[in-house]
Amino acid sequence: MKTCKSGKQRRDELRAARRRRAAKRALDLAPPQAVPARPGAGRVAVCVERLAPDNSYDLPAYARRGWYEDVAFRCKDCGADCLWTAERQRWWYEVAKGGIFTSARRCAACRAAERRRVACARRAQIEGKLRKAARLAAQD
Ligand SMILES: [Zn+2]
Repeated sequence: MKTCKSGKQRRDELRAARRRRAAKRALDLAPPQAVPARPGAGRVAVCVERLAPDNSYDLPAYARRGWYEDVAFRCKDCGADCLWTAERQRWWYEVAKGGIFTSARRCAACRAAERRRVACARRAQIEGKLRKAARLAAQD
């Protein structure tokens, strides 16, 4: 078994990897492909190659079906009835690379409030760590 590769072999591998990455980038930038005849209006085709990597053996229902469709849901914080549109789902799964088994749980206003809450908590934690580090440094 050969364990060591020549410079040429390594260069060829790097070139192939670069080509693969370029192909993937082109796919990410391409507009969503037209939906075949079956899905009706308000549906957006799923591009499985663009979904975030997931080690599951299974595919979510929308990926097996081949298109996103509007999903009605209730906000878990304020209880408002909301609609998660097919286009927003495509953005979430294929552009933002959201987990493939995740789905919308909060309305836009509650999502913004939750983001502010998490940012505030994160800031408080970092400030606490800095205060502790300063206290420990002062003891030395
Ligand atoms: Zn809400």
